Amino acid sequence: MTTLVLVEHNGSEISKGTLSTIAAAQKLGGDVELAVLGNGVSGIAEAASKISGVSKVHHGDHEELAHPMAEAYTKVLQAIAGQFDAVLAPASTFGKNILPRLAALLDVQQVSDIVAVEGPKTFKRPIYAGNAIATVETSDDKLVITVRPTAFDPVARDGGSASVETLSVDISSGATSKFVNLEESEGDRPDLNAASIVVSGGRGVGSKEDFKIIEALADKLSAAVGASRAAVDAGYVSNDYQVGQTGKIVAPDLYIAVGISGAIQHLAGMKESKVIVAINTDEEAPIFNVADYGLVADLFQALPELTEKL
Ligand code: FAD
Repeated sequence: MTTLVLVEHNGSEISKGTLSTIAAAQKLGGDVELAVLGNGVSGIAEAASKISGVSKVHHGDHEELAHPMAEAYTKVLQAIAGQFDAVLAPASTFGKNILPRLAALLDVQQVSDIVAVEGPKTFKRPIYAGNAIATVETSDDKLVITVRPTAFDPVARDGGSASVETLSVDISSGATSKFVNLEESEGDRPDLNAASIVVSGGRGVGSKEDFKIIEALADKLSAAVGASRAAVDAGYVSNDYQVGQTGKIVAPDLYIAVGISGAIQHLAGMKESKVIVAINTDEEAPIFNVADYGLVADLFQALPELTEKL
């Protein structure tokens, strides 16, 4: 079995989700190789070659690959897919954008968002917003799989010594889609997907202005900021902060839910967190069913006090 993992990176660092995807690939058995695609990313290819348990890195560098556009990326992946039994990527917006197109081009059925490897072709994946876990078996010869990063402990960034091979494939893509621009949240806070502490605010916070008290606590704890969909829909923060079924799936060491009721769609994105703290005025709020520590209190009193005491 030889598995290819598509590396997610931002031009300067390989994502933690990629390291978890490599851990999942190792559970399939056999060799694990990586594809590093981009423009001017030899440093990333070099870093990838040091990841523990990787035997080879395929490095594709081209201006058409400067942004992770599905058309150009899948052109490269399709060209080399014949060498592999499985192609994996994290089930992030990156992997969810690219792998379905690859699966279609290879005429196979993608297995999405796996949380466990049960056998060479058998996997576990959540359904119904994580309320049930399905065991699925594919009959395809070639596997195309997205991996839920929070379900697999990441491999070490170092300890490996893989060879790096430059890809020479034709990537003049003739794409019908083109990159226009990227709007990223700026700031020094850690990335929501990788943070060990997340402080999330919900509708109970009440306004964009008041959301600053969530940010103040996050900054005190060097935490990432998250939000419920209700808070995003109300315009308190942008939608890249959203945690949940239709947002980001996180599993930090500590998740603090403030003014969040705990709807199943929100729980789907955070209930695997190691320690959950909930602050809510309503003692019947469902968030308390998953919380390790619950504080029935008005967030406008509790949060400034907590932030000050820290
Ligand atoms: P509410 O449910 O309104 O809860 C606000 C809470 O704040 C209440 O519990 C209240 O007691 C508390 N509160 C109020 N004032 C205070 C105060 N002063 N101090 C302390 N507590 C206070 N939701 C997500 O979050 N993420 C998703 O990805 C997502 N995907 C969805 C997908 C689908 C298909 C659907 C149908 C829904 C989805 N939702 C998602 C929405 C979800 O169903 C809930 O509507 C949403 O999570 C509610 O957000 P909330 O808890 O902030 O708001």
